Amino acid sequence: MMKQWKGKPDVIVAGAGFAGAVAAREMAEAGKQVLVLEKRNHIGGNMYEEENEAGIRIHVYGPHIFHTNDERVFRYIRQFGKWDTYEHRVKGKIREKEVPIPFNFTSLEALFPMEQAKKLETKLHRTFLGKTRVTVLELMEHTDQEIAELGQFVFDNVFKGYTAKQWGMPVLEVDRSVISRVPVVLGKDDRYFGDRYQLMPAEGYTKIFENLLQHKNIVCQTGVDVMDLLTLQPDGTMRFDGEVFDGIFIYTGMPDTLLQNCFGFLPYRSLRLEFETLQQNDFQSASVVNYPNSEDFTRITEFKKLTGQQKTGVTTILREYPMAFTANAGQEAYYPIENKQNRSLYEMYQKALQQWDNLYLCGRLAEYRYYNMDGAILRALELTQEILQKEKVCLAANV
Ligand SMILES: Cc1cc2nc3c(=O)[nH]c(=O)nc-3n(C[C@H](O)[C@H](O)[C@H](O)COP(=O)(O)OP(=O)(O)OC[C@H]3O[C@@H](n4cnc5c(N)ncnc54)[C@H](O)[C@@H]3O)c2cc1C
Repeated sequence: MMKQWKGKPDVIVAGAGFAGAVAAREMAEAGKQVLVLEKRNHIGGNMYEEENEAGIRIHVYGPHIFHTNDERVFRYIRQFGKWDTYEHRVKGKIREKEVPIPFNFTSLEALFPMEQAKKLETKLHRTFLGKTRVTVLELMEHTDQEIAELGQFVFDNVFKGYTAKQWGMPVLEVDRSVISRVPVVLGKDDRYFGDRYQLMPAEGYTKIFENLLQHKNIVCQTGVDVMDLLTLQPDGTMRFDGEVFDGIFIYTGMPDTLLQNCFGFLPYRSLRLEFETLQQNDFQSASVVNYPNSEDFTRITEFKKLTGQQKTGVTTILREYPMAFTANAGQEAYYPIENKQNRSLYEMYQKALQQWDNLYLCGRLAEYRYYNMDGAILRALELTQEILQKEKVCLAANV
């Protein structure tokens, strides 16, 4: 490895996804010299986007749509590139029909006799007065039998098969928190997300990351695994690249690897991503079509429909096949498997890592929790604010 940095930085950030890039930017804005090290050979984390051989921009680690209700995150992210308004619409293949997902009144009317569908719509409106979205659990657990039966229908046809594929386990073993996130729309709004801001970067995510990391105080090097340079010493100090490092260390990778998996491996789900380029204008009716029941894959994404790129005679699609994650087998850890047992394993790592008081865990992998992009950005903004505030207090107290 040819080192592209000189001297000792004030801050080291491991990982150049949103958590790392935003944390780096904030520290750089505060006047710190920041070194960002990314083990992949590109920046952008799972949002990384590139143009394929057909000239179509693809999301290399699966489709990413930016959505948030958080005004601060929205304002922040707009500084780093041009964003287009984009309303994500998903269809699901249910009983041989392509219907809107989340399940809404159009889905209801496509799959139920019209008279029954209309009766249910009126009842749902009356029961959940003023609400535009409820969860499938709210329906299933409702005391009205017809509503509970509809909830069960949505659960069985839209959720059960998809979730079993996604998590590789019977649906009853899936954590309740996952089930409680499944929405049902009480109306014909067919947007996948209900958030106030729904955007796609006009020039792709990679450009946003280039802009985020473009700062006089930031040096960023890709293709460097921090674990090859970092030693956590038993006395609570750390060495980086052979020297004592007592600056700020922000880590966005897997926490168990920091301690050589001493308590066991944190479990994740992975994906096999199968891209295919076809010599035709269009492949499907929406940018994403879910396959909850048939097929081994969970969904197909058609990228042109996601990015708005205009290309004739060619289109690229992606099929996602969920699979188990095995550490050190060249797979990506995509989804933390959220349940009580795994949370306590994570907490063992978190507690043990508190010994190094200049080490901060940030983001989807490091905190072992599913963050959407806006959540990862917000977390990085809050963490860096916290670190800078702590430093101010220590300086004032002359500690
Ligand atoms: C298939 C899929 C689809 C998704 N779709 C959406 C969506 O539509 N909308 C949405 O809001 N969110 C989506 N997400 C969530 C989104 O990917 C996360 O919110 C985001 O990746 C969080 O950013 P991060 O920086 O925490 O993690 P990451 O993006 O994973 O970045 C972590 C980075 O750290 C690097 N790293 C790890 N260990 C080391 C090390 N030892 N040394 C150096 N570098 C290291 C990794 O290589 C990686 O680049 C999706 C997630 C998946 C898996």
